[in-house]
Amino acid sequence: MEFRKKRKVDIERRAFNKDWMPKYFFTEIDNKGVCLLCNQSVTVLKEYNIICHYATKHGNYSNNLLEAERQTRATELDRKLARQQKVLVKSTLAQKSSTHASFMVAYHIAKHSKLFSDGEWIKKVHARCSCDQVCPEKRQKFQEVSLSRRTLARRIGKTIGENLTSQLKGLVSFISTVFTGIWMKALTSMILHSFSSLYGAF
Ligand SMILES: [Zn+2]
Repeated sequence: MEFRKKRKVDIERRAFNKDWMPKYFFTEIDNKGVCLLCNQSVTVLKEYNIICHYATKHGNYSNNLLEAERQTRATELDRKLARQQKVLVKSTLAQKSSTHASFMVAYHIAKHSKLFSDGEWIKKVHARCSCDQVCPEKRQKFQEVSLSRRTLARRIGKTIGENLTSQLKGLVSFISTVFTGIWMKALTSMILHSFSSLYGAF
């Protein structure tokens, strides 16, 4: 009971207070306090932590600002940061899509036993046919998908390595439950280590 009460108080204390924005030029992003002046974040949402950051780094920032001016300035900075975040999220999503597309091509190249160098050829054909004829506005995005021989080899090696390691771990676990001898455990562990090293360094 006491524990629950304490936890509730703790959570309430860590909720972002909107007054902190004009007071200390802080906003909240993903349950973290973020400084609107230097974009540094405070992991634990406590007023004490925010005060410490503000006093240490921006102590004189708003000396000449009236209360209404602080509010206006804080709102402007908050909107600016929100715009920057939006651009960042968009860019991260585009990067993820590009990596995903690269893995997809690597998967099909491995599945159909094609050459790693076919990746560049696929890229050229796709750019000339699909992008130019159907969706020219996506051309640039497709150009950013890495399909070089080296990248495809790395992606295929990584995927095969992860699958094999996962399968081998299952095998080791199974053998360990059947054979309890120390030598058997050592042997299976050694096999797993060898395969992990081999494909991890691919
Ligand atoms: Zn700051």
